[in-house]
Amino acid sequence: MDTHIPPRKQYVLRELFRQLGSARKLYAMAIALMVIDAACQSVVPLLFRDVLNGLQQDAAGYMEMSFWWHVGIALLIIAVFIPSALFGHVLAGLAITRLLRNLRTNLYRHIQGMSLDFHARHKVGESTARLNGDIDQTGVTLGTIVGVVWAIIAGIQGLLMMIYVHWQLSILFMFWFVLAAFATMRWMPHIRRVSRKMRDEAGVTSGLITEYMSILTVIKSFTYEGRAADQVSAQAQTLCAAHDRLVWQQSYFNDAMQTVFKFLAPLSLLLVGSFMVAQGTLLIGDLVAFYGYWLLLSHALSLVTNSISQITIGLAAADRICEWLQQEPSVQDQHQPEPLAQVHGHLAFNQVTFAYPQDPRKNTLENCDFTIEAGQTIALVGPSGAGKSTVLQLLLRFYDPHNGVIRLDGRDIGDVSQHDLRRHIGVVFQEPIFLSGTILDNLLLGNPSATSEQIDHCLRQAHAFDFVQSLPDGLHTELGEHGARLSGGQKQRLSIARALIKDPAIMILDEATAALDAESEYMVVQAMNSALKGRTAIIIAHRIATIRNADKILVIENGRVLAQGAHQQLRHENTLYARYCEQQCVA
Ligand code: ATP
Repeated sequence: MDTHIPPRKQYVLRELFRQLGSARKLYAMAIALMVIDAACQSVVPLLFRDVLNGLQQDAAGYMEMSFWWHVGIALLIIAVFIPSALFGHVLAGLAITRLLRNLRTNLYRHIQGMSLDFHARHKVGESTARLNGDIDQTGVTLGTIVGVVWAIIAGIQGLLMMIYVHWQLSILFMFWFVLAAFATMRWMPHIRRVSRKMRDEAGVTSGLITEYMSILTVIKSFTYEGRAADQVSAQAQTLCAAHDRLVWQQSYFNDAMQTVFKFLAPLSLLLVGSFMVAQGTLLIGDLVAFYGYWLLLSHALSLVTNSISQITIGLAAADRICEWLQQEPSVQDQHQPEPLAQVHGHLAFNQVTFAYPQDPRKNTLENCDFTIEAGQTIALVGPSGAGKSTVLQLLLRFYDPHNGVIRLDGRDIGDVSQHDLRRHIGVVFQEPIFLSGTILDNLLLGNPSATSEQIDHCLRQAHAFDFVQSLPDGLHTELGEHGARLSGGQKQRLSIARALIKDPAIMILDEATAALDAESEYMVVQAMNSALKGRTAIIIAHRIATIRNADKILVIENGRVLAQGAHQQLRHENTLYARYCEQQCVA
């Protein structure tokens, strides 16, 4: 199920305005200063008119009576213009950088808060493309919009002054204006479509490259480099073609507008104006002033029309940002979730049925029913694809079940917040993942206020204390990307210690020893045994030897619990479990 909802233009603009937050004041001040800036510019042609008409009618009288007045007015205009233009641009720029900061932070938070079905549908690179490329593009566009706001203000003032100087000539200008506006309205939806396609292709390209970069060792070991490079090259070519289409569309439009405003319109004014001067119905000063306003207006209009294609591209980028901001996570907390302070660890799955959103017709779990007493260790065994990891995903509320209830200490986990629930669950995955930073940084992930005694205690419980101490920098050893400087067993014991730091009532271990050799596995099993004491634990393991002492073992097949009981009981009563024991020579 894809929840792709293309946002409407009004929604995008409203959302951008909302994201401005407290920078709205800066933006309002910038606009006020732009009004002053534009007013200064629109007084200049009027000054030309008065000077030239004065000189044409009575040069000596003008020099005696008005010249120095006009010099004073010119100096005043410059004195007002310089600070208003400077601060207008600076404040507008500051408002934009704040908007981009807010967008980036809020989009990151939003993406992070989306449920796992969303992340399964979208590649990591697609998220980074929206967080980086689309936000940067939106920033460029917002800068352009500031110019357009100035152009609109200057254009309105210029138009009013033009009508004031000579309303009959203004009709000529109106003709060109209406023509340009009509062409713009016809062209823009097309540019918007082409540019949205280009941004989408940019997202796919970024997704593909990020994916291949993150699995580079797999690509090299399977000598897949050539085919991977070919795929990247093919996608880059698709992006290039989408870009080309945009370049053509933009150029057609911009060139058409330039031709209208730089050649057709001024030349038509020159012809009509000189005819009127020759007839004696227009003074040269009026024609020059009119031309001054004409230039101001054409400049403003060509700025607007040139910017429209840029803004359209930016709106396509903002579209993609808002499209995600609009989506809600499929797993939601209640409006006022019940607080979960103390947890004993009694768990129950009551008739739980679940299908992944990507494959809604296939129930991955079907009427799953079992309980775990507080402090018990249970193990899930069963063939690959049986649904074992899905049980853990539902317990962590990465997904909510379609039917049935999961209870923790008798309470439906759907009634407590995801954050509260996960605070009480420690997780150890098959592939331990670390953030870049030191061992200490990683240990403190689950509990930033842990004391050094707590840290040492957890490291000891996880049988990781000695090897961490033996490292030259101890707890302050840099782990490198994904913990590259440690062995598989060391990483796994460290990840057990990390899970213990928040002192969880429940521990989940999803094939924590599957990727280890026999000696490392022995060490990790020792670590698990001491780490799980006094906690409810759920272990998924393919090696029966590691879970034979569990209080209860659930045999899962095709999403159903086939049998449950202790090791010896199941070995005699369940054929699938007995077969596993036989295959692995476990008595
Ligand atoms: P293994 O022992 O191989 O890890 P498992 O018993 O843990 O298997 P699950 O990972 O729970 O099995 O998967 C159960 C079924 O759900 C499988 O058929 C799998 O293909 C499917 N599945 C798992 N994750 C998803 C997902 N995100 N979207 C769609 N189907 C999924």
